[in-house]
Amino acid sequence: MKRLFLLIFIGLFVQTLAQFNQGNLLEAEYTPTYYRLEMNLNPYQSDFSGKTTMKFITTESTQEIKINAKENLNIENVSYHSILLNDYSRDGDVLRISLPENLPANQLDSISISFSGNASTSSGLMLGDHEGVPVIETLSEPWHASTWWVCKDDLIDKVDKIDVVIRHPSEFKAASNGVLQSVTDLGDGSTITHWQHNYAIPAYLVAVAVTNYVEYNHTVDIGGTNVPIVNYIYPESLDEWSDSLDLVPSYMEILSDKFGDYPYKTEKYGHAQWNRGGGMEHSTMSFMGKFTFNLIVHELAHQWFGNMVTCASWRDIWINEGFADYCTGLLNDHFYGEEKFKQWKQERVGLVTAENWGSVYVPEGSNQSRIFNSRLTYKKGSMMVHLIRYMLNDDDLFYEVLNEFLYDPRFNFGFASVEDFKDVLEIVTQKSWDKFYEDWIYGEGHPILNVELNKNPDSNIYTLNFIQTPSHHSVEFFEMPIEIEFNGNDQTEIRRFELNQLENSFSISDLPFEVSSFAVNPNFDIVCEINLAVLNTHDLTELKTKIYPNPSKGFFNIKSSQKIVEVKVYDVSGRLVGQWSGIDQLNFTIQTSDWSNGVYGLYIRTLNDEIVEKLIVNN
Ligand SMILES: [Zn+2]
Repeated sequence: MKRLFLLIFIGLFVQTLAQFNQGNLLEAEYTPTYYRLEMNLNPYQSDFSGKTTMKFITTESTQEIKINAKENLNIENVSYHSILLNDYSRDGDVLRISLPENLPANQLDSISISFSGNASTSSGLMLGDHEGVPVIETLSEPWHASTWWVCKDDLIDKVDKIDVVIRHPSEFKAASNGVLQSVTDLGDGSTITHWQHNYAIPAYLVAVAVTNYVEYNHTVDIGGTNVPIVNYIYPESLDEWSDSLDLVPSYMEILSDKFGDYPYKTEKYGHAQWNRGGGMEHSTMSFMGKFTFNLIVHELAHQWFGNMVTCASWRDIWINEGFADYCTGLLNDHFYGEEKFKQWKQERVGLVTAENWGSVYVPEGSNQSRIFNSRLTYKKGSMMVHLIRYMLNDDDLFYEVLNEFLYDPRFNFGFASVEDFKDVLEIVTQKSWDKFYEDWIYGEGHPILNVELNKNPDSNIYTLNFIQTPSHHSVEFFEMPIEIEFNGNDQTEIRRFELNQLENSFSISDLPFEVSSFAVNPNFDIVCEINLAVLNTHDLTELKTKIYPNPSKGFFNIKSSQKIVEVKVYDVSGRLVGQWSGIDQLNFTIQTSDWSNGVYGLYIRTLNDEIVEKLIVNN
């Protein structure tokens, strides 16, 4: 009984978490295929009303339709085959509708639900104003769609088509997804604007906005198709942003070159201005407050990463935000050059390493602010896309991975998890990315590096030593190829070194110049902190090998900037007390607890030196 209770308890817990992971996921016996969303939106007042007509296919025999409707929505009526149904109930955020008859599996059917509610201030359907003119705008991501329209509000369903029909004051324009079908003045001060979108879309990407917009439009040729770019801008803002908007066609061309044609080229792309600082990538109509380069590119990139292929759960938000943010880096590189891209990376490395914790993969049970954590989901996320590119060291292969992922029939216009991306990455590159995922996607923190470059005073041989400390205990050590830029005699050479343990040491004998300085991670490709980077050219033996504690009590350590190869200990009479060879480490500990107290002679051989030291044992 106890065990059964425990199992039920665990079962409930798992179900709740799963619901969170994929939004307001409910167990339903159908798949939605189409929505007609009719809304009455008047920005002069906070109350609104609407009607959802949903087509669906039953996945199994059922007499009940469950659909998401948050508690703030009032249900006005439910209509099935033009008959009003009275047999429905509210169960928290779920509306349960009993049908008059049982539906068999694989039946195509439809149902309409009328609702009403009040605008919010922070999410869902929001009311605001600009220059004294009211505006209504929506923001549904991650799970607020069902606060303003009745829908299946989760990350497993995309409908094939939506019609959005908005009745609003005639002096305003209404923006939404897809193609404008009609604008009909009803002659009573109100107008009906009808938009239609014919691509697979999840509930959170459906959006509307209504205010006194002016239109500022362009077209762009994408693969032989003339794609309209429709911008709905506040009249007072157009002068400020028209130059920025003029560049959108070129961004669409570049991203289409890199990731295949703009996914919605038979419809449109566009922007609607809203009252928030950031942006939201609603399919074919991004909403944003300011039309800055990075924001425009970010929301546009989401049309591929996020909209065409959508994260399979909110824990997988890297698929949306990491890749979209990385596209801003790519376009900074394309339009402003390598130095600007380097700054872009440097800024991200600085922000990510400002704190020692946090993974790209969102932990179970995280709230909305953790899901959209700027440092982890966006900045670390985009640097991990870059790290994949850097590790591949082959841009053709990198873009092949991304394109294979985007157009994989399992994910294209569907959903994909971080593991799904790994699957494609491993297939295309023909190698395991387990360690990368463990360290950089699931693991927290970043490596902190101490780097020493030691020049042998008698030759042109250098020893390069790395000691890594992970910033967070979840990662034992970070595997990575790191670049070192060697400078000297007006020359520069960048070389890569594979770090695969906490301490790595390399011998370099073929640099064509004498090194006067060096830089670690010179192009900011790796998210890491450089704690120490020193070049030693003289008196290595005295400076760089330490014996401590001396006098020793029970044990002593030898720490060297070059790998220790062999240690011998002699007593005062010259008798060999101990010998250790083949050590190959930077640190070595010797136990002295069963030695007699007194003075000993220590012979230490490192990679490039021999050292003789005096040790006092005082147990
Ligand atoms: Zn984004």
